[in-house]
This record gives sequence, C-alpha cells and structure tokens, in this order.
Amino acid sequence: MANNSKKCFCAFCKHERRINTKRHITFNNVFLSLLSTVLLMFVFWQNIDPRAIILFVVSLCIAEAFIIIRWRVTLSCPYCGFDPILYKRSPEKMVQKVTRIMSEQRGCSDFWLRTKNPTARLAKRPALSIKDELAKNLKEISRAQIDAQSAKEIPATRGR
Ligand SMILES: [Zn+2]
Repeated sequence: MANNSKKCFCAFCKHERRINTKRHITFNNVFLSLLSTVLLMFVFWQNIDPRAIILFVVSLCIAEAFIIIRWRVTLSCPYCGFDPILYKRSPEKMVQKVTRIMSEQRGCSDFWLRTKNPTARLAKRPALSIKDELAKNLKEISRAQIDAQSAKEIPATRGR
C-alpha cells in the first residue's frame, strides 16, 4: 500500500503535523469496490444480477467522497486551526477561525503545558533596546523640528 500521508509544517503555528496527500480514488479502491459489490450481490440476490452495477457505482461514489473528506479534514492544523484552502478563499474568515480556536484553547487548563502549544512558535515582534528606543525618539523629534522650521521658512521665502 502506498503511503498517502506526508509530514508538513503548519504555515501559521509552525508545528509539524501529518496531512493526507491522496485526493481521489485509485485503481486499488476501484478493485476493492468491485470485490465488495460482487460479495453484496451474492448476499442480496444469490446470483449474478444487473442491479449490482448500481451498487458498484454507489460504492465508488462513497469511496471517492470518503477520500475527499479525509483529505480535506487533515488539511487544517489540529493545533491552531489554520486551513490553507480557507485562507486562499477568504483570509478574513481564516483570521476569525484561528482567533476563535486560539482563544478557546487558551481557556483549557493544560494549554501552557502542551508540547505543541500553537503560540510557542509564533513570530514575536522584536523588542527594542533602550538605546534603540531613544535613537528612534530622537529621530522623530528632530524630524518634527525640521518640519516646523521648514513650515516657518516657506512663507518667509514666498514673501520676498
Ligand atoms: Zn497550526
């Protein structure tokens, strides 16, 4: 049997998880559906019966639906709820979903003890050191002074 699951990292919380890569039925699924149809045909009608074709089509539909649902369900992150398909369709809805799931999980008693805490690997805004903060403030003050000076000078030069 081919291995259909793959390890990947969540685009939002950066935790490793497994996703299912199989999206549609394969020859194996068709063969198994056929086998189960033949079995059910002999159970229901004890003979070869054309109604089994309908049964076969239905079992193929069920198999396909099952595989698509399994693929779609494993796509969203179990830790933070990030879903790449929903993100592509509607980023706002995705933000709402992740915010809701994160706030729900924060309420759990074991939230901070989890090994895969969704907030653990989120990118942090770098904290400014006191020196950097002073330099930034100084730059803003001098810019404001330059603006004020140029505002005074412009009417003066115009008056000449
Ligand atoms: Zn995640």
